Amino acid sequence: MGSRGVPGHEVDKPPGQVHRNRWVGGARILLVVCALVGSWTLFVHRSIYSEGCRGCKYSLGREEYSVFGIVVKKSEFSRIRSRAMVYAEYLGVPCKHANWWRNHDYRYWGLWLREEPSGPVASNWYVEPRPLTQEDKGNIRALITNAPELPQEFYTRVIVNHDLEYLDQFEIQLNRMRQGQEEVSG
Ligand SMILES: [Zn+2]
Repeated sequence: MGSRGVPGHEVDKPPGQVHRNRWVGGARILLVVCALVGSWTLFVHRSIYSEGCRGCKYSLGREEYSVFGIVVKKSEFSRIRSRAMVYAEYLGVPCKHANWWRNHDYRYWGLWLREEPSGPVASNWYVEPRPLTQEDKGNIRALITNAPELPQEFYTRVIVNHDLEYLDQFEIQLNRMRQGQEEVSG
């Protein structure tokens, strides 16, 4: 009765052939799975970059997800503002970050297979200054009033020529002014 009553082809096949068909089906599925995993691994990436400015030493990390080489999601982390960058801003001569570098630290093929395209960079990050207070900003304005050429001098010596000694001296001077004010008011 019913469809079962119709003579089935399988029943007529020798047992060996049924077995082989199952193997062929299994192999096909395996091939498709391998192709999917392979394509995923080849075309879906997560990358970690270190970036920064050679001028003011501002630096940050960047994470990017890409599919077929097209970035679909990106975010920044561990932004480090350098002393040079912060002081230059308050002196009214912010760094334009014209000399930007970028290092491809890690690439995760298929999000799991790690490669180090250019290796992690040695950390050469300058410390961010303590937050500048209103007194600091007033002192910086006073310094500029006394020496109008100061901002341009700071820019040339620190941002362009990386004169760290000059930067240290500038910071020491600022700290001295603040301490003097604290002693007076305290
Ligand atoms: Zn910069």
